[in-house]
Amino acid sequence: MKTKNLIVAASIALPAAAFSAGLYGDIPDANHAWAVHDENRPKPSRVTVGENGVPSDAIVLFDGTKESFERNWCDGSEGPSKWIVEDGAFSCGEGFKFGECRTREEFGDCQLHIEYRHPADTKSIGGNAQMRGNSGVFLMGPKYGYEVQVLESYFTCRELEGRPEFVQNYADGQAGSIYAENPPLVNPQRRPGEWQVYDIVFHQPVWKGDQLTHPGSITVFFNGVLVQDHWEMEGQTTHCRRRPLAPHPAKGPLSLQDHGCSVSFRNVWIRPIASRWDNLTHSNMSADPEKVMAERRATAAKLYAKIADPKSATAETVKALGEVVSYADEGVYAADFRNALEAYRAKPGDANEVKSVNRALDVLVRGKVIPESAKIAEGAK
Ligand code: MG
Repeated sequence: MKTKNLIVAASIALPAAAFSAGLYGDIPDANHAWAVHDENRPKPSRVTVGENGVPSDAIVLFDGTKESFERNWCDGSEGPSKWIVEDGAFSCGEGFKFGECRTREEFGDCQLHIEYRHPADTKSIGGNAQMRGNSGVFLMGPKYGYEVQVLESYFTCRELEGRPEFVQNYADGQAGSIYAENPPLVNPQRRPGEWQVYDIVFHQPVWKGDQLTHPGSITVFFNGVLVQDHWEMEGQTTHCRRRPLAPHPAKGPLSLQDHGCSVSFRNVWIRPIASRWDNLTHSNMSADPEKVMAERRATAAKLYAKIADPKSATAETVKALGEVVSYADEGVYAADFRNALEAYRAKPGDANEVKSVNRALDVLVRGKVIPESAKIAEGAK
């Protein structure tokens, strides 16, 4: 109980004045472009969600109309798609006659919402479990892509379900799987005839030249249930083989598979998102140190430009320059800061003012920008 109280106490916010801009939380480092509680850090933009559940910053790829289908979707050669628009959905039928259906626009990392439905009387064509409502959501297209499998796999195991007539399937090919890589964690699929919902968060692999730095990941919620938990891709998905990851363009179409089976799609929207590793507003331990440093320098320049006279030796100038060097301790920033600090040390203000300067310097001591001995002696005046 005592420990719990201590934790609560530690998380209690200090008065608002403590959060004014300036040196306060742990300073930026190689992986963090921003300090803890940094007032300079950009604020998230506002997104609202309509009654239809679509976020205001989403690109609606299909709203139920023929116009939106023709505007946003095409076949594999960028010609008109053969898929059929009917009753607020677009559908592929049997017989491999429809071809791939892909978006005209290309995307990279994204949040995707897509709904699909199989006919209530879906059968395994030719007794093949992979011919039972097979389609697929190919992120970045089938050429380079990563397939979240679409299949009618409400029943997954003959023994488990007590359905001797059911055609046995493999787990890494059922609905919600990353095809040929990873089965869904559970099977939350509804019966055929009901609409199914995928909410997908996709990050493509990151390369530096031919060096893979991050494998990329797919997270899938299937009818609201987590089935792929930040799955880090092993390869580009394909049938029967392990196909290693390889560099590819940063954007590709969203593509839906024609696997010779009947399946309908509706309510498709996508939100392009920043790479986890380039999103310096939300920097993390995986952020690219070069990009982090570039962001830190940009903030340092902005803060430095706001200082009326960087050569003055006032307490305010020392604190302001201290904040600048917390982002980039180099060049004119470092020289001006150390000069101002030494000039202030020679002619410090009153006790309260010195305390406030030392509070700011403490943050730099914690960040190893200056040694403890660089602080101003209190009570020296
Ligand atoms: Mg498929």
